[in-house]
Amino acid sequence: MKFETAAVHAGEEPVLTAGGSGDVVVPIHLSSTFARRDVAKPTGGYEYSRSGNPTRGALEQKLAAIENARFGLAFSSGLAAETTVALTLLKKDDHVVAFDDLYGGTRRLFGHVFQENFGIALSYVDARDAENVKAALRDTTRLVWLESPTNPLIRLCDIRKIAGIAHNVGVPVIVDNTFASPYFQHPLALGADIVVHSTTKYINGHSDSVGGAVMLSDETLYRKIRYNQNAAGAILSPFDSFLVARGIKTLALRMEQHQKNALAIARYLESHKKVSAVYYPGLPSHPQHALAKKQMEGFSGMFSFEIRGGKRAACRFLRSLRLFSLAESLGGVESLIEHPATMTHASVLKAEREKVGVTDALIRVSVGIENTGDLIADLGQAFGETGS
Ligand SMILES: *Cc1c(COP(=O)(O)O)cnc(C)c1O
Repeated sequence: MKFETAAVHAGEEPVLTAGGSGDVVVPIHLSSTFARRDVAKPTGGYEYSRSGNPTRGALEQKLAAIENARFGLAFSSGLAAETTVALTLLKKDDHVVAFDDLYGGTRRLFGHVFQENFGIALSYVDARDAENVKAALRDTTRLVWLESPTNPLIRLCDIRKIAGIAHNVGVPVIVDNTFASPYFQHPLALGADIVVHSTTKYINGHSDSVGGAVMLSDETLYRKIRYNQNAAGAILSPFDSFLVARGIKTLALRMEQHQKNALAIARYLESHKKVSAVYYPGLPSHPQHALAKKQMEGFSGMFSFEIRGGKRAACRFLRSLRLFSLAESLGGVESLIEHPATMTHASVLKAEREKVGVTDALIRVSVGIENTGDLIADLGQAFGETGS
């Protein structure tokens, strides 16, 4: 099955045999427990909804299918997925190598929880150069954590090259694929061992559910993560599972429109006199445009730019927008815009933030699927141009 077909059908084949009702959409199974006839035999394999639920199970099959993975797991948030992966692979005194431009919440989890409370050592490196990952590896390194493209500077790393380096010394590679979505990038095919997603973003796509996902093909590792997910209780609810499964059905269509809008707006901003830099991998001016074309099947709908005039200009601009909502999060059908320095990356120390390149003039955009012209007109009026 190709992507669009799997997105609609995987996990949701209608049951037409006796006892089945032929639903073309998997029902929302709200039951917290499942009755059985014999003590030793759970009905349909289900016992208690934390350990397994039919609606969540259907979504997990769909999640696996769209990442070309053997297994999928649905979590209560992206960070619940990350936490469960980390506590499966790490123990006290282990070492982690991570891309220095990670999602702020991921840095908070590794820095303030795993490092401070559990003695995990961390090395943040600029993974745009794979040699930096190689140089940071230690005997105690137990995982390499990547994100590509990154948030909010839209930087890429060469997943295939880094996976080769890590696998040489037996270290697994985890890729947070949230920004690209499973439609535009397949990290497992590039050599990654585990993919994680915040389904809150593109996968659900309608800004009405918080959730996370893990996809992988190694059965032993899958069983361990699944065991820990149940042990920790980090599961997605039946209703959210239904919402995410519904969202996935239009993922391909949405991603095409996100990308079309992002490309048009990135070009518009690149030629605007009030903008000093645009970071979008679909622009030939992006320093990693060639890698993006090789590694991704598209460029997604996330970009950022620097406005001339620093924080004051950024705040004035953001206040003037009408269609773009000033909000954290991303990947929904509606256009969102935010100021990383005071919003998504406020928990990262200023010195650390600026070292990575998240300045006070930086603005991050998650383009929705609205009409391209309407969006550009809104940006134009916020820049102080008339005639919109
Ligand atoms: C939002 C996000 C997360 C965290 O996901 P939640 O669903 O908010 O817990 C992780 N990584 C990236 C890249 C994200 O954008």
